[in-house]
Amino acid sequence: MPQVLDGLFGLCNRLFNVVIEAADGEAPIWHQDVRYFRVQRQDGTPLASFYLDPYSRPASKRGGAWMDECLGRRTNPDGTHVLPVAYLICNQTPPVEDTPSLMSFEEVETLFHEFGHGLQHMLTTVDEPEAAGISNVEWDAVELPSQFMENWCLDRATLMGMARHWQTNEPLPEDEFQKLRKSRTFNAGLATLRQVHFALSDLRLHSRWTPELGITPDALRRDVATTTTVMEPIPEDQFLCAFGHIFAGGYSAGYYSYKWAEVLSADAFAAFEDAGLDNEQKVQSTGALFRDTVLSLGGSRSPSEVFEAFRGRPASTEALIRHSGLVNA
Ligand SMILES: [Zn+2]
Repeated sequence: MPQVLDGLFGLCNRLFNVVIEAADGEAPIWHQDVRYFRVQRQDGTPLASFYLDPYSRPASKRGGAWMDECLGRRTNPDGTHVLPVAYLICNQTPPVEDTPSLMSFEEVETLFHEFGHGLQHMLTTVDEPEAAGISNVEWDAVELPSQFMENWCLDRATLMGMARHWQTNEPLPEDEFQKLRKSRTFNAGLATLRQVHFALSDLRLHSRWTPELGITPDALRRDVATTTTVMEPIPEDQFLCAFGHIFAGGYSAGYYSYKWAEVLSADAFAAFEDAGLDNEQKVQSTGALFRDTVLSLGGSRSPSEVFEAFRGRPASTEALIRHSGLVNA
């Protein structure tokens, strides 16, 4: 974990020109394992701070990982600012005696994911709380900064910089790196179809189905399945009865946002690939542009406008399809 945090903070410094430093003891905490950090500009100007509560505590903490705000950015009557404070909660492997927290790759991805949400909260430049940071960002774009950060976990320079043996300092062997890379495209076609099937079923049920249509919701879903599943669902398949997301889970007609956020985040990462991931100057200028658009503008403008301000064009599915291995790179 200490190496992963160094890698993550180093990446943020490289991309967004911010310095992140431990500030344990400067703010009250709710558990001895909670860490506190400050985020500053290169010249020392304070920007934000955050709590990190990294480890699993099954007795007192629910599972999963999440980020939210303690304080949002606002302007005081005297013109000074209240700076954002975020909290990031994970459930990763705790340290045991002399062994530090040895994070799995998935735990690293989760930390980067939540940190992406945190960056959008902390690096906002919007002074109206209702539109600052993660507030008022439309549903289908909220996972853009988080999934964008996940992409860096498989960037060679980023991963190799932090994936070192905790005792011998040996770097991650090349074949392990290649295995990790390949795992991203394993069964990607089926995984893509699955999400498209769910999203289309959801949209069609909510936009087209009425009792007057004369078919059951299940029949409508089976019709969607003819073009979105490899094998048609067996007669006993009653998937809709278990599709809680779109009936009770708040995703009604919004399930597509999972895939759409992947389109946005892959296309955003592709801006760095296009510029050349080994061209340091380009990586830094593209990072600064990402900070000044996606991470700064929050919900003050529509997400498509914010995306276009970063990318110079509307979002394209090309990068996601390429990253998924569905076309030759
Ligand atoms: Zn998220």
